Parts: sequence; structure tokens; C-alpha cells
Amino acid sequence: MRNAPTILHLDMDAFYAQAEQASKPSLRGKAVVVGGLGPRGVVATASYEARTFGVHSAMPMAQARRLAPNAAYLVPRFGFYRSISDQVMALLRALSPLVEPLSLDEAFVDLEAGGTAWDGESALLAGIRLRADIRAVTGLTGSVGLASCKMLAKIASEQAKPDGLVLIEPGTERALLGPMPVRTLPGVGPATGDHLRRAGITTVDEIAEAGEDELVRMVGKAHGHALYAMALARDDRPVVAERETKSVSVEDTYDLDIHDRVRVGLEVRRLADRCVRRLRESGLSGRTIVLKVRRYDFSTLTRSETLRGPTDDPGVVREAAARLLDSVDTTGGVRLLGVGVSGLADFTQEDLFAQAAEERADLSEEEVPDEPVGEEPVPAEHRWRPGHDVRHAELGHGWVQGSGLGRVTVRFETPESEPGRVRTFRVDDPELAVAEPLPLVRRTPEEGDSAAEEAAEKAAGKAAERFVAGEGTPDQTESLQRVKGV
Ligand SMILES: [Mg+2]
Repeated sequence: MRNAPTILHLDMDAFYAQAEQASKPSLRGKAVVVGGLGPRGVVATASYEARTFGVHSAMPMAQARRLAPNAAYLVPRFGFYRSISDQVMALLRALSPLVEPLSLDEAFVDLEAGGTAWDGESALLAGIRLRADIRAVTGLTGSVGLASCKMLAKIASEQAKPDGLVLIEPGTERALLGPMPVRTLPGVGPATGDHLRRAGITTVDEIAEAGEDELVRMVGKAHGHALYAMALARDDRPVVAERETKSVSVEDTYDLDIHDRVRVGLEVRRLADRCVRRLRESGLSGRTIVLKVRRYDFSTLTRSETLRGPTDDPGVVREAAARLLDSVDTTGGVRLLGVGVSGLADFTQEDLFAQAAEERADLSEEEVPDEPVGEEPVPAEHRWRPGHDVRHAELGHGWVQGSGLGRVTVRFETPESEPGRVRTFRVDDPELAVAEPLPLVRRTPEEGDSAAEEAAEKAAGKAAERFVAGEGTPDQTESLQRVKGV
């Protein structure tokens, strides 16, 4: 363990819900729940306003609806969240080559490895500046924890939430951790928590007092050792940069070269389906579709296409592979074909919950498979998913508030507008079309970066002055007190 608080943990605040509120002015300050909306759906993220009703991640959606009947219920838009995540991760990578993403909105950064920070003061400045940068670039807030190890950096960001920063001074770790409930420690779930409680252990201090031997007896060797080390605030795990891009791919070699172009197309389609099955079995999704073709003369070509967001949709992979095949000359014959998906997203548990729930919702609520069969067009009423963006030929940009009984309700507003009006249309209204999400922060290509930089500079400068001068807003004073361990 190092003796400077130069490990940073960033966690965006109620990420999906906050992104939806930023994109939909009428939902700001309101209870918003993002997740699977079907009968077995699960909450992915609840806005802070919804949390006051007791709604939280991984809760069954039916229960959330009972607790907060008037909240806005939206299906997740992973492509949109991914694009914001890319911006956030780029800001983190500017701080250090050692960035370890844990999910779309959460990562560890080793500031020391990047030369960005070497002591408490430089780490604090980097954290303040990062929060300002995130705000300027994405329009959203994230919380930052700084400490001498990963475990405490994560605990610090949890304490900082929402929209705050907490730095744990080296040397104060044990005093801080001691009175906290055992569940604060990573790896202590409900089962271990109960186990410890039955033995009269409810705080981290009590874990340390129990001693290593006793813990090993209670929860087993590996877990016992780890638990004891964590209770003493010992955590030597390094920040590990994103490992090389994983991929899932399948390929077939043919005994006889295939000359028929139609047959080549069918084989590619079959491989795409097989690849997606593999992908889904591993609970993964990816952004880059790769086609591999080895021709009669053993020349091997690969072509790839990167999508806006990760997919595990067979239709999407099939289409991309077919497009890639269009650019390959196969007239001499083909002896090997392969289809792969890479740039895999490590979906967090909550992403998986929401996605699985969303898929189930598709099936149960609409009673159609979520991929269109053959050439049949998607029925009009299935296009309008709650929370997704639309464009009306005359009324402009809006989002689907709900649909049913042949009608779709749209609220017309944009990230920069005032809360908008609601209008109802027939589901097959020719003036209405599905649209891409609008960026939350509009920037001109040249001014953009410098404007964001300037804003960040200002914010960082101000905060730093206040830190040095020891004054500040009540919020900052509070976090500075926490910084100093008062
Ligand atoms: Mg988060």
C-alpha cells in the first residue's frame, strides 16, 4: 500500500437515470426509474428522487411501481449511455494509462502511474478538476473517492455521493473504517453479513478484533484471510488497465471451395447466428463485427465494422456481416469464412439484469420475437419504446412517453429546451419516426474542447483557492472536513 491517496475511484451518480433526466427536461427533479418494464423486469437505476421512495437497483419493477407509482418508468438506452461512458473514460485515460473500468460508469485510476498526482494535494486537485471536466463535457455529475488503495477509494466515492469528492488521508484509514458496518467491505454480501452478525460481529472493528484464526474458522480459509486484511485496511491490489480486447468468433473451413455467391452469403449468415449464440451464452455483447474470408489462393482478408453501441442482436450482427461481405471479392472461391464480435462490453450485473428484463418484456408484452422475421416490417406499435427518441416532421424532436391501444404519446423537448408539451398520435402516423438521442452538451467542433477546458480550469482553480483559503460553500466545507478526517 502506498502512502499517498493517489488511487482514484470515479462513480457517476445514478448514471442511467441522470442521463435520462439530462436528456428530458420534464423529468429533472422527478422520480425516474430505468429498467426492464415487463412483468419480471428489474430496476437498473433509480434517480435520487425515486430512491427517497425506497426504490433501488435490482429491485423487481413491480415492487418499484408500488413504492413510487408516479415515477417515470423508462427502458434503458445502452447505446446512449455507452456514448457518454466513452467521453468519461477518455477523460480518465488523460489522467493515467492505468484505468480499470468496472462498468459503464465506474472506474479506478492510478494517478501516480500517470504522473498526475504524487501526494494529497495534487491528488485532490486532480479529483476536483476531473469532476469539473466530466460536468463540462457530459453535462452530468460523478463522485470521486481518493485513497491509498482501491477498497478505500471506492468507499470514499460512496461517501461522496451524490456530486461530491472525499479524500481519505493515509494514516486515517483504520479509524475511518472501524465503526463502519461489515457490509462496507468488498465481498461481504448478505450471507456473510448474517453469518458474522450471528457471531456478534457487526462492525469492521469487530472483524479485526475477532482475529484471523477465528475468521478462518467462521467463513473459510480464503475468505477469512481476505476479510481480516480488509478490516485492517490492507489492500495491495493494483489498478489493472483494461485487458486486451476480448472477442468471440466462429469460423468454418470448407472441404471444397465455395464459388456460389448466394451460398457464401448463407454461410456468413449461419456463422453470424452461431457467433451470437456464443456471445449470449457468455452473457456478453460487443461493438465491432469482424468478417474473415480466406480465398482459394489462401489470401486472407478481414473486414470490420464498429457499431455505435454494443449488441448481441442476431439481426444486427447478420446485417453487418452481410454488408462486410459485399466489399469482398469471392469470385475465385472461398475456403474459409469466419464471423466475430469484439470490443466486448463487460456489462455489470445491473446492466445484465436490465437487458435480460428488457428482452423478456419484449416477448411478454408484445408477444412477438424481438427480431423481425424475414422481410416483414416491424408492426407500427412495436417501434415506440418508452423513453426512446422520436422526430415529428412538424413538431420536431421528442421522446415516447407511452403507447398502447393504437396510440403513442410523445413529449416534445430536447436537452436544451424547457420542459415540453405532450401530444398523442396514431402509432402509424407517417409524420413520426424513430430518432437518435441528441447530445447532452452541444459543442461546436473547434470551440468545444477549449470551452470545456476553460470551464474545468475555472472550476478547478476556484475550488483549489477555496481549499487553500479554507473557506467555501457549505458543501465544500463539509467535504473538506471529511478530507481532513475531522
Ligand atoms: Mg454509478
